[in-house]
Order: sequence, then structure tokens, then C-alpha cells
Amino acid sequence: MNQPESLNCPNCGGAVMSALTNCEFCSTRLKTVGCAKCMGMMFLGSKFCGHCGATAHAAELLDDATAGECPRCKIRLQSLKISEVHIRECERCGGFWSAADAFENLCSDHEKQASVLGFAGSYRHENPDPPTISYVPCPDCSQLMNRSNFARSSGIIVDMCKQHGVWFDAGELPKIIDFIDKGGLDRAREKEKISMADERSRIRDEQRRLEMMSRRSGNMKFDEERSGSFGSLISKLFD
Ligand SMILES: [Zn+2]
Ligand SMILES: [Zn+2]
Ligand SMILES: [Zn+2]
Ligand SMILES: [Zn+2]
Repeated sequence: MNQPESLNCPNCGGAVMSALTNCEFCSTRLKTVGCAKCMGMMFLGSKFCGHCGATAHAAELLDDATAGECPRCKIRLQSLKISEVHIRECERCGGFWSAADAFENLCSDHEKQASVLGFAGSYRHENPDPPTISYVPCPDCSQLMNRSNFARSSGIIVDMCKQHGVWFDAGELPKIIDFIDKGGLDRAREKEKISMADERSRIRDEQRRLEMMSRRSGNMKFDEERSGSFGSLISKLFD
């Protein structure tokens, strides 16, 4: 779909064809991304879009031999650093992997969320195969991942390795961006807080009930000891 064009290397500024994966002049690794504003091509790491001048995402392509494979396409993932968050992306299907700590970081920081998800969402992929619902392996440990409802209430099912991280298929990103934009993550957190508060007050009630019971049974004992058969009457009145 994208015609090859001449772009400037983000490292040395040399004019390089967009199809190359390394700069001819300085051999920096290159990767094209779509401008979020005009969809024009630029190299990852460029400060501005050469077509419309929009500020580019502060993203960097890293050399990472341990990036693992895409759970769906089985090709090596590319490590990227976007606003200090590391993700690993599959160039073919557009899915991306977020390690557990990066994901936590991501969920707790709105700005990072916006840049990572905005960045990943700005990719255009030629043929995102509709993900088939099947269990896929974790890029780090190769164990099959669990499928879990993102933020519990989103209805977006993501693949997750409890130990290593979360895999997002390309089609899931716009939905997740939408969910987060509409405050879904905050609502989910709010809900969790409420259910935790519910649980706390339930435990408090239960403790109070137990306390009352033990006090009552203590009184009962005392009453029984003191007034014989009246004790059972008192306990009946209180029950
Ligand atoms: Zn260069
Ligand atoms: Zn642009
Ligand atoms: Zn893939
Ligand atoms: Zn794993």
C-alpha cells in the first residue's frame, strides 16, 4: 500500500529509501511509522513528520536480541521505547507485547498511556489477520497465555502471562484506546475501590456480629450461672 519514498535518517539526516532497514550512511536501524496526523511515512526516531511537520512520537527502536517471537506470526518482535516505556511490537500483525512492569507503569500513568497507545494505534497494517481465538504462547516463557478481560469490565479479551506481561492484538488497540478515553480504566479502578470498601465493611459487620455473639454467649453463661433457667429465656429474647 505504502509507496517507497525517500526519507531522512533520524540519526545522520541522510536521505534513505523507506524500504531499507538500516541507514546506508550510518547503519542505524530504521523502521517506518505512520504520522498520527497525516498518515505520511517517517522513520521512527524522527522529531517531526517530513510531510506535515507534526511533532513525532518520542519513540526509539532498540537492538534487543532477547525480544522473543510474536505469539501469532512467530517472527522476531521489535523492541521500542516510547516515552520511557518499553514495548515489543510485531511488524507483521501489529500486535504488541508489554512486559508486566511496563504494563503496570502504563496503567498508572495517563500520559504514558496516551503516548504508547496513541503511537501503537497510529500504525497502519497491510493485512491484520483477524486474530483467531486460540491460546498463544508468551514471548518470554513460551507457556500458553491466559485470555483475560482487560480492566475486568472492558469486554476486550487480551492474552496475558501472569509472570511476564500482556499481549495486545492489533485490532484490540483502538478498542482499548476508546475504553481508556471514555474513562473505562478509571471506572474499573473506582469499581475495584468500591468493591474493596464493600468487602471491608462486610468484614467489619462480620466482626461486629461475632463480637456480639461472643458477648451475648458470655452474658448468657453469666445469666445462666446466676439465674439458672432464666438464662435460656434471655437468649431467646435476644435471638
Ligand atoms: Zn543514518
Ligand atoms: Zn504528518
Ligand atoms: Zn505478529
Ligand atoms: Zn511468560
